[in-house]
Amino acid sequence: TVEQFDKVVDSVCPFCGVGCQTTVRVKDDLIVQVDGRDGPANENRLCVKGRFGFDYVRSPDRLTKPLIRRDDAPKCGDINLKGADPLTVFREATWEEALERASSGLTKIRDERGGQAIAGFGSAKGSNEEAYLFQKFIRQGFGTNNVDHCTRLCHASSVAALMEGVGSGAVSAPFNDALKADCIIVIGARPTTNHPVAATYFKQAAKQGRKLVVIDPRKQDLMRHASHSLVFKPGTDVALLNAMLNVIITERLYDEQYIQANVSGFEALKEKVKDFTPEAMEPVCAVPAATIRDVARLYAKSERSIIFWGMGISQHTHGTDNSRCLIAMALITGQIGRPGTGLHPLRGQNNVQGASDAGLIPMVYPDYRSVEDADIRAEFEDLYGRPLDAKRGLTVVEIMDAIHDGEISGMYVMGENPAMSDPDQIHARAALAKLDHLVVQDIFLTETAWHADVVLPASAHAEKLGTYTNTNRQVQLGRPAISLPGDARQDWEIIQDLARACGLDWHYGHVSEVYTEMASVMPSLKNISWDRVEREGSVTYPADGPDVPGNEIIFVNGFPTRDRRGKIVPADLLPPDEVPDEDYPLVLTTGRLLEHWHTGAMTRRAGVLDAIEPEGIASMNPREIERRGMRQGIMVKVETRRGTVEALLRADREVADGMIFMPFCFNESPANVLTNPQLDPFGKIPEFKYCAARIGLA
Ligand code: SF4
Repeated sequence: TVEQFDKVVDSVCPFCGVGCQTTVRVKDDLIVQVDGRDGPANENRLCVKGRFGFDYVRSPDRLTKPLIRRDDAPKCGDINLKGADPLTVFREATWEEALERASSGLTKIRDERGGQAIAGFGSAKGSNEEAYLFQKFIRQGFGTNNVDHCTRLCHASSVAALMEGVGSGAVSAPFNDALKADCIIVIGARPTTNHPVAATYFKQAAKQGRKLVVIDPRKQDLMRHASHSLVFKPGTDVALLNAMLNVIITERLYDEQYIQANVSGFEALKEKVKDFTPEAMEPVCAVPAATIRDVARLYAKSERSIIFWGMGISQHTHGTDNSRCLIAMALITGQIGRPGTGLHPLRGQNNVQGASDAGLIPMVYPDYRSVEDADIRAEFEDLYGRPLDAKRGLTVVEIMDAIHDGEISGMYVMGENPAMSDPDQIHARAALAKLDHLVVQDIFLTETAWHADVVLPASAHAEKLGTYTNTNRQVQLGRPAISLPGDARQDWEIIQDLARACGLDWHYGHVSEVYTEMASVMPSLKNISWDRVEREGSVTYPADGPDVPGNEIIFVNGFPTRDRRGKIVPADLLPPDEVPDEDYPLVLTTGRLLEHWHTGAMTRRAGVLDAIEPEGIASMNPREIERRGMRQGIMVKVETRRGTVEALLRADREVADGMIFMPFCFNESPANVLTNPQLDPFGKIPEFKYCAARIGLA
């Protein structure tokens, strides 16, 4: 009963982009229970993370005081500092001293070397208002566009292809529309692990008789519900998808009328895919030609077909090309702009859609408006009251390289953990250690924060008020349930105080004022006021009027491109950057586990979740383990050209022969020591999903 609790608060889940609405029950300023609420994305459902992953907020590891690095403490580089006493490296400080130290370090670099020597990483875990303020601070305070966040590591290539193809990086239909589709394709995604509540809709659709096609190099349990399961050779996405396009074109299954009215580039696509017959591609992608034909026909002939994809598509050096193929499939068949059809890259973090929309990206201001367009820039210069940088900033991985090259020497990191999440982690940690000045704002002393000169204790999701935008374009309100620990402060207030200390004249009195300014420069939020979000709890953008429900389906009448047409960009077959050879004969792929979220900073401090998955693992097929004379449960070392990591060997029939899978959440077995930093040329996303590796006894 309500009486058992001091407080019952309506909020949203802090983990994945599904954006489940929650009811948080509080007793004695502690969260004691989280339940699903009847939100548009989850209809009362929650997964194990949403239900049990809340006690991290009261972890004894929470930062409760600002910290300043001791003068004699060395910068730590690639040292794994788990277990070290923070007070041997840092000393506690007052907020005044910490803000003074943080701001003077950044402004000194700006004044001596110019604003281009500064970079900022914001966070897709924070609210829209925090993302907006963070990008504003970097752009206005330092005159640079060197501001990015973890979208660069997750769907940057999908967004690059979508912006180019259909003029918008957002999904065209909500995932719940799987229930209205006749054919559902899930490719390069593992929703039962990474978007578990979305997966329940896919299973439900299959149960109702809709055709579910699951395509992935690793087997997965969603395949149990599928009418077609295609396990293809990793890295051959374009071969498989171009073969499907070849079938659709040669069998004239495309929608000629739709193409004539809405699409450009069809002739070039025809020419490009004419030799990609299923028979020619079968030996490349290891999917039988007959299956490729079946699935292509099913997708094109169904009344309503929808495509979902994840990081198996995006995290490749050819990630943009992979998405271009999916966009081409939807465009030539007219499977877009109607209920039950469309393109839906399943977003990772709870607010990666919102943080990207809010301009936490080096190429664009809020709402993806180019920093290189003089008219748009003039508009933001008017608002921000000073000249802004006219060229694109550097991206996440490029910033690490620029530190090594001596071009960047100061950074402000809010809620991101590049020391765990960036590829080629030894290189990334060495970069962080090389900075002259690093300010980290977080709730824990993360692997990144250990490198900091100043650490600012921030607010957890359950302690703050703000809006978050989920994968369905639903802007939702997160409400505070518990108080902040110790001297920790609200993130938006910290950004504001740091901005003021750096000389900016900011006077936001409430987070709603930040939202209102942000919405004033974002056409997508027109008709979605703070009051409306507060009143309705969830509003889909775009909305045609202040009292009209938002449009769940977009691209109904063409695309927001210059000529209103969707543009096909044909893709070539390119190999992954680093293929197996005699020295490194296996393929390493990385990803997530159901119980842990990204770098594990939160979920590894959530008792139930860490108890279920408590240790760093490397998974291989039991056949492959036996072939190597190994056995499950032993410690192994996985090696690539970038480093070596020890982990517990797990037998997993879902992993293909010749492949190793490692989650990247375990700091005792940090998979990103091994990963390849080579970038997709368009989205600038690294190839987390494929590199050459070998395995041996530890
Ligand atoms: Fe949270 Fe995602 Fe699980 Fe929903 S599906 S409870 S948003 S982690």
